[in-house]
Amino acid sequence: NDTVFTFGGDAPHTNARQKDKTITGGKGANLAEMASIGLPVPPGFTISTEECLRYLQQGADFSDDLRDAVANALKHIEKSVGKGFGDEGDPLLVSVRSGAAISMPGMMDTVLNLGLNDETVKGLAATSGDERFAWDSYRRFIQMYGDVVLDMDHGLFEEALEIAKEDKGFYSDTEMEASDWQSLVGEYKRIVSEELGREFPQDPHEQLWGAIRAVFDSWDSERAKVYRRLNDIPHDLGTAVNVQAMVFGNMGDSSATGVAFTRDPSTGEKAYYGEWLVNAQGEDVVAGIRTPQFLTKARREQSGADKPSMEEAMPEAYAELARVFELLEQHYKDMQDIEFTVQQGQLFLLQTRTGKRTAKAALKMAVDMVGEGLIDEKTAILRIDPMALDQLLHPTLDPDAPRDVLTTGLPASPGAASGKIVLDADTAELWAGRGEKVILVRVETSPEDIHGMHAAQGILTARGGMTSHAAVVARGMGRPCVSGASAISIQRDGRTASIGNREFKEGDVITIDGANGQVMAGEVATIEPELAGDFGTIMEWADTHRRMKVRTNAETEADCRMALSFGTEGIGLCRTEHMFFDADRISAVRQMILAESEEGRRKALALLLPEQRADFEAIFRAMAGHPCTIRLLDPPLHEFLPTGDEEFAELAQATGRSAEQLKRRAAELHEFNPMLGHRGCRLGITFPEIYEMQARAIFEAACAVAGNGDAPVPEVMIPLVATRRELEILRALVDDVAKAVFSETGVALEYLVGTMIELPRAALMAGEIAQEAEFFSFGTNDLTQTTLGVSRDDAGRFLTTYVERGIFPRDPFVSLDIEGVGQLVELATQRGRKSRPQIKLGICGEHGGDPASIAFCEATGLDYVSASPYRVPIARLAAAQASL
Ligand code: PEP
Ligand code: MG
Repeated sequence: NDTVFTFGGDAPHTNARQKDKTITGGKGANLAEMASIGLPVPPGFTISTEECLRYLQQGADFSDDLRDAVANALKHIEKSVGKGFGDEGDPLLVSVRSGAAISMPGMMDTVLNLGLNDETVKGLAATSGDERFAWDSYRRFIQMYGDVVLDMDHGLFEEALEIAKEDKGFYSDTEMEASDWQSLVGEYKRIVSEELGREFPQDPHEQLWGAIRAVFDSWDSERAKVYRRLNDIPHDLGTAVNVQAMVFGNMGDSSATGVAFTRDPSTGEKAYYGEWLVNAQGEDVVAGIRTPQFLTKARREQSGADKPSMEEAMPEAYAELARVFELLEQHYKDMQDIEFTVQQGQLFLLQTRTGKRTAKAALKMAVDMVGEGLIDEKTAILRIDPMALDQLLHPTLDPDAPRDVLTTGLPASPGAASGKIVLDADTAELWAGRGEKVILVRVETSPEDIHGMHAAQGILTARGGMTSHAAVVARGMGRPCVSGASAISIQRDGRTASIGNREFKEGDVITIDGANGQVMAGEVATIEPELAGDFGTIMEWADTHRRMKVRTNAETEADCRMALSFGTEGIGLCRTEHMFFDADRISAVRQMILAESEEGRRKALALLLPEQRADFEAIFRAMAGHPCTIRLLDPPLHEFLPTGDEEFAELAQATGRSAEQLKRRAAELHEFNPMLGHRGCRLGITFPEIYEMQARAIFEAACAVAGNGDAPVPEVMIPLVATRRELEILRALVDDVAKAVFSETGVALEYLVGTMIELPRAALMAGEIAQEAEFFSFGTNDLTQTTLGVSRDDAGRFLTTYVERGIFPRDPFVSLDIEGVGQLVELATQRGRKSRPQIKLGICGEHGGDPASIAFCEATGLDYVSASPYRVPIARLAAAQASL
């Protein structure tokens, strides 16, 4: 059998399949790898993802082959630890955990202490010499198994525990004695049989297969699907199952369990970082039930905590852990995130994986590791997720702004956020859908809250440490998070929360600072991000390795300056219509549209000319000699039509015509399908005076700026071209205006005329069109819309379902449909270049800021990509990655 792999103990050295994450999952592959480099890993085995897929396809059934292979692998564990599975004298207990190729925190379920039953619990008590521990383990097992495998409400068990403690007058679990746990086990079993109508399974083999089944099933659970959708993880990977001999962190004060990072995942600082709990098991640290202690002495002192760090309380185990950290970093050449257990002084590693990190930490670690000689520049560039840079480009709280600090929790995920308090995930989603900014405030979060966390600007929890669910997920999503702010109490019935000694209602505004854990009343002022330091270093490296240029889509001076500060090399798309919508010009625009004659239009256009010229002058000045592609008017006139009586009345006054006349004209201009209607170059063909005015504004502005040194190179772009003839006519129009302006001003400038390729016919006829075009810019928004026959404005209603059902791997308006639309881009590139070898080629649809689409553009050989200002750094890095 080649789908079940053993590790640890005297398992043979691993083969390539076992180290392949797509087969054994991240956890399984790394357990095998750790065991093979001699690290202390409890023995176990991994069932491959292929078995999961087979199981899900074959209607939830296990093959005989698999059953045999698992039986053999169990023998390996038994032999390695010298215990028997189901042995009443000296029972082997195992953990069963999921592990997909891509880590999905909190998505999958874990069962610990499997193998316990009414008989083996006595064996465990005898061999451990600790009756209380044995019965506590058994009741934990029933609780976890009931929750995860038997799909019971875990509240039932928690309630029973609360009642048991109340009966005894106990305050905490630690007061429970062996006999108390034993009677609770009886109660738990009674709950199971009452709820399910059958007994809790006593046969360890039945328990094991139940748990394997639950792991496989959890791949298709709703919360796993949501997580995959939000993180663009394919739905057909499947998960592996890891079965491993239990080690116990809850065998008294020389035992412990913890989570650690080889470097600080928030800041990237080269300092061990982590949390641990004495005498605790498994998920206690992560679940946020007890607030964990610091790993290192330095951290503890820094935070002023009084409970000892692991470094102080368990110096020997800590020293061993530190040795392991170094070995792991040298081996994986990256920061590792580790789960460990100390069983009566002896250290075991339960998991290692490449640690998730904030964008800031990712940059620092990459730059530091190059400095340390651990990795090279190219590796550093490839290691950074371009989309994560987004986190760094946004404002942080102004240190000098007044703050009304309510309380301070843990700085779980950096960034600052203000918003209205919401107390549950559904409300967060609902309010965010209405365009409100919200902060999700919870006691703690669970995987059921993911949609709300995604919708929120930030997350605030009352309980849980730096590795709690809220913290891990928020960091992954790039949401600011403050966790463990214990001065918060939530009254869900009244929809209120008290923070510190103040009362808040749902809807009141607060601010959180994920960098220092502060929670503040109201909204706090912010400042712009720091773009130097490690960010600057990585960007510099990226720039030396990329071939494509990166331009920006911008139409205001402010956007231009922003994009320049982010390193843009020109404007790839200036949508001139955005200038038409400005409050002070919309009236002139409407007068132009509703005019009945060319003369009337010219009169209104004359009002717009100086405004447009001033816009272009400002842009050319800001761009200081960088190329600027300016697109002539594109959207249907329909979009500018007045709607309300008031607007018509105003226009009537301005034009001297009656409101009725104007309404009649507006009705004539109404379109049924404006996206495919009277727009783009069709406007230029039918109302040439509009494009004339725009061309004049462009050239007059360019001539005016040219004298001051950096002469702009305007690139005049004609939208929505389908035929060569359209472009021929409009190009002649632009050339004529240019000639006129140059002779009027006595300044002559270099300029280009080109077109967007955003209709399938244009792509097909690119060879012909290129004879009139000095450049092409792929308008992949419209090209996607027209190739797929999917309206970009209505796609939202069904595209999510399409992505969920795997019809599209991702939203094709976000990430280019390379397979389909991509063919048209390639074809137009080839045909365009064939007829005009020097033609300049770029992309200016939203896809120009999407890393996967940028990789396609590199492969296709485009000259540049153009993205919105905040995406410019993302595009610079993605372009570098694509050319490595
Ligand atoms: C496009 O269609 O890709 C494009 C950039 O133009 P717009 O989004 O303005 O239609
Ligand atoms: Mg378009």
